[in-house]
Amino acid sequence: MCPSSAYPKLLAPLDLGHITLKNRVLMGSMHVGLEDGKGPLKKLGAYFARRAEGQVGLIVTGGIAPNREGWAKPFAGKLSNRLEVWQHRYVTDAVHEAGGRIAMQILHTGRYAYHPMAVAPSPIKSPISLFRPRALSRRGIGRTIAAFANCAKRAQEAGYDGVEVMGSEGYLINQFIAAHTNKRTDEWGGSYENRIRFPLEVLRAVRAAVGPEFVIIYRLSMLDLVREGSTWEEVVELAKRVEEAGASIINTGIGWHEARVPTIATMVPSAGFTWVTRRLKGEVAVPLVTSNRINMPDVAERVLADGDADMVSMARPFLADPDWVLKAEQGREDEINTCIACNQACLDHIFRNQRCSCLVNPLACHETEWAVHPVRRRRDIGVVGAGPAGLSFATFAAGRGHRVTLYEASGSIGGQFNMARRIPGKEEFDHTIRYYQKQIELTGVELKLNHRVSAEELAAAGHELVVLATGVNPREITLPGVEHEKVLSYVEVLRDERPVGARVAIIGAGGIGFDVAEFLLHGPGHDAREDPEGARARFFDEWGIDTTLTNRGGMRAPTRPPPTREITLCQRSKGKLGAGLGKTTGWIHRASLKHSGVVMLPECRYEKIDDVGLHLTVGGVPQVLPVDNVVICAGQVSRRELEGPLKARGVEVHLIGGADVAAELDAKRAIEQGARLATAL
Ligand code: FAD
Ligand code: NAP
Ligand code: SF4
Repeated sequence: MCPSSAYPKLLAPLDLGHITLKNRVLMGSMHVGLEDGKGPLKKLGAYFARRAEGQVGLIVTGGIAPNREGWAKPFAGKLSNRLEVWQHRYVTDAVHEAGGRIAMQILHTGRYAYHPMAVAPSPIKSPISLFRPRALSRRGIGRTIAAFANCAKRAQEAGYDGVEVMGSEGYLINQFIAAHTNKRTDEWGGSYENRIRFPLEVLRAVRAAVGPEFVIIYRLSMLDLVREGSTWEEVVELAKRVEEAGASIINTGIGWHEARVPTIATMVPSAGFTWVTRRLKGEVAVPLVTSNRINMPDVAERVLADGDADMVSMARPFLADPDWVLKAEQGREDEINTCIACNQACLDHIFRNQRCSCLVNPLACHETEWAVHPVRRRRDIGVVGAGPAGLSFATFAAGRGHRVTLYEASGSIGGQFNMARRIPGKEEFDHTIRYYQKQIELTGVELKLNHRVSAEELAAAGHELVVLATGVNPREITLPGVEHEKVLSYVEVLRDERPVGARVAIIGAGGIGFDVAEFLLHGPGHDAREDPEGARARFFDEWGIDTTLTNRGGMRAPTRPPPTREITLCQRSKGKLGAGLGKTTGWIHRASLKHSGVVMLPECRYEKIDDVGLHLTVGGVPQVLPVDNVVICAGQVSRRELEGPLKARGVEVHLIGGADVAAELDAKRAIEQGARLATAL
């Protein structure tokens, strides 16, 4: 116990027999793109060392394959020979020098592999894969088990404190366990006893290879969220057998990758799945780790205090803030840069084959390349606009030692995040605003709210340079009847709270069009901040999650209330709506709107708006949408009216965020651009 802290459970040490972890925080496995390729893993080492300095109790690496067949993609991280042991030494040495502990995840992707060497228990292609796997022969299974054991032994040689055997998220081990991916008729398929033989043999072989004094975590799929997944009784049976086979810790896995249920995205309720781990408490003696959508110390403490688990696992929160644990220990939780579960710079990058980073912390995964140093010469800088771009620049620049004055026309910081935070499922954007508010105090930025600043005033203030972060204005469209009283901009709906009728057409189906639809469907009374229990219940109902754990795979028929509004979402271009949304979240937004009966119309040509409604052609066919309101969400244009007058007065001007380029603007670009400029000046 750690009696002096506000988080006594979270910060209590955990005795594993041969080692003691300093607290109950496990940094969960997450592929970041620094694991792959040849050569020493220096960047990966620096990335983890930074988190070890931040006092994480136990780090788990992203998945490392035990052999080539298990690679996630060609030349993905693998550990099977002595050369690779040497590469991994850079990781373990860096973490140990920083006083941390690190386990390596052994991941065999099976049929999820993105290469033609993919193998699986049976030759059944997954709905999210390109390649049909080859069925492993019995000898092949034996070789694969030996590869797991060899990989664990090599991890031990490389200096890791343990390994995590990845048995969830639908990867190879899961594929053996579930009947719908394992159609074998030999001793590795058929009965449940036969189907769990593979994970148990893997664990026994790993334990035999590494001896008793080495941590083995088993990531167990406790809720498959696929139709023919395990029953809860089978999960309990497996957990007991996993413990017998030599696991020191059991970690929670929720949902296969092919499951059509969101498990970590922003609309998943806070700590939304810890009740699953709790059901396993008392069934096994080894410590249980719970996970998914835990992002702040009070949430983590409550989960542990409620007895849901013995440890909490968080992955993305350590991209957002490497000092998360340290700040909790020191009572500085209001300084935590909180992960808002957007997936935009982490998972979306990985799925696009780019290096992972973080929307709220662009330095993440760039530890060896992007250092922020104190300035040699202090400059007086004026920043206009306290949206994400201006906040990022101002706090970074002031943190380096510049004198910064931040002018904001409205009464609060945050810019468009003040509209985003009103969208159901984006409530946690509040955290980013709170983080910057605190950074403004800590770095000494002089904040001038309700201050629409002019070029004259900026020039007269004597700033050596001015950074324009004035954002965007909604694009105005030209269309007969666009001045009709039933036409509203998204700003009038979200910020000004203008009344909206029961039948709505939305022009423009980008991120904001989708968000406005979500807002209008679930508006007042659906705020998770005011009614967290109601929001949880609605989430489980909408996505058909069986919280009683009586059904196979944890699935049940969804129950959805009738939609509160009739909404039609329109775009001019061909193809599916929302194609430009995030790779890992777009499908959720599309599914969610479909659940509520939103009609999606591509290939629209808008003709006019009048008392009857919106007149348009859809694929060349004339239609009238008899709506009460038309909401325009047709993108934005940069707001940069100060640029010319400032330059004319000889002031050095820099543009960032939406003021620089409005097209394809998002907070990821705004924050990164602000941070990069502040690092360079
Ligand atoms: P802004 O946020 O527009 O900030 C500009 C600021 O400048 C404003 O506060 C304005 O008041 C101030 N200002 C302007 N002129 C002056 C002046 N003369 N003097 C003083 N102050 C001035 N992005 C994502 O990445 N992910 C999302 O999930 C997401 N969801 C969104 C949902 C909604 C509903 C909306 C509206 C936006 C969303 N965005 C999202 C977009 C994101 O909010 C923007 O990309 C981001 O806010 C742009 O940052 P910015 O600092 O460039 O501009
Ligand atoms: P956007 O993504 O550019 O979408 C604008 C929409 O308006 C498109 O559907 C476009 O499609 C349509 N449009 C453009 N010009 C038009 C015109 N003259 N007349 C009629 N329709 C027109 O912009 P946004 O939705 O405003 O979002 C702004 C930024 O915020 C985005 O870049 C996005 O990244 C970010 N954002 C992200 C999220 C997220 O969840 N990640 C959420 C919200 C916002 P057609 O040309 O086909 O009609
Ligand atoms: Fe969290 Fe978004 Fe950062 Fe990913 S990009 S770590 S989801 S805040």
